[in-house]
Amino acid sequence: MSLRGSIAGAALLVMGAPGAASAQETLNLYCSVQVEWCQAVANTFSRTTGVRVNMTQKGSGETLAQIRAEAQNPRGDVWFGGTGDPHLVMAEEGLSEEYKSPKLEQLNAWAVKQAQDSKYRTVGVYAGILGIGFNPELLKKKNLPAPSCWADLTKPEYKGEVQMANPASSGTAYVAIATLVQLMGEEQAFDFLKKMHANVNAYPRSGTGPIKAVARGETSVSVSFIHDAVTEDLAGLPAKAVPPCEGTGMEVGSMSIVKGARNMESAKKFYEWALTPDAQRLGAEVGKQFHTPSNKSTPLPERAPRLDQVKIINYDFAKYGSSAERGRLIARWEKEVGSLP
Ligand code: PLP
Repeated sequence: MSLRGSIAGAALLVMGAPGAASAQETLNLYCSVQVEWCQAVANTFSRTTGVRVNMTQKGSGETLAQIRAEAQNPRGDVWFGGTGDPHLVMAEEGLSEEYKSPKLEQLNAWAVKQAQDSKYRTVGVYAGILGIGFNPELLKKKNLPAPSCWADLTKPEYKGEVQMANPASSGTAYVAIATLVQLMGEEQAFDFLKKMHANVNAYPRSGTGPIKAVARGETSVSVSFIHDAVTEDLAGLPAKAVPPCEGTGMEVGSMSIVKGARNMESAKKFYEWALTPDAQRLGAEVGKQFHTPSNKSTPLPERAPRLDQVKIINYDFAKYGSSAERGRLIARWEKEVGSLP
């Protein structure tokens, strides 16, 4: 079981410095990056402001499902991180609060576009590039070449060697499906996914599950964000990732305030803090996660994959972040691919 799988959904309570905030100041934080970064964000915000933080970490699709289920009685105040598409769905479904940060002018264009596409109901906090992960040692042992293109993932030689997360629970896997649809056209993309299914040994719940399985030597190949392989590589584990030769998609990891949040002041305080370079550098420095931060003044981590060095499609965030399109593609995947033996 992955680290993420083993603690997903667990709540962490962080007490702020005594006396630094009134007894009522609390923040219920939903967090969809990896737990190390979530904890760093919760701890540092709490220490800096005195706000008591209850943090729950779950994948992007799972958090959207929870926010939908709680719509009549919101329990979360802010949702930090996770792929941008479900944040856009949340905005469209009226589940997030409109909020225009004065820090928008400090952010990269892709992060501002995310805010504009949502009518200022979400904002970009980081970007990441989708790729193919692999374990070079395991591949060598099996006498298999390292994959470098999407097309490789359907080759019979990789039978039983590939993992991708489940797109209903994982934002990473949904980005993969939306990327393939945009690259190939929908019918070819579903043909591809069906062929790749013959090589897939599991569709885990969490987007980082497959690259952690690669790093542990449980599977040779994964569909993963490239920065997630960097995290494993830096931990000394045999994981690498490449951008597929045909081109690939990207995520705009996002943040939203829950509509009707009980702790609206704390939510806005957190939102403003999370857009500062001091908060954004925690991702790499403490969380060991190497995204491109959205604030232009946050130092770009040395090991972060460079957006301008990869062939990235013009990902249509508004279309693939619409509730109808996301719901339709996930349902089609479940019916035509996920249900296959
Ligand atoms: N963890 C990291 C490091 C990520 O970059 C992302 C994507 O935003 C996620 C987790 C999201 O996880 P999931 O695919 O389970 O929604």
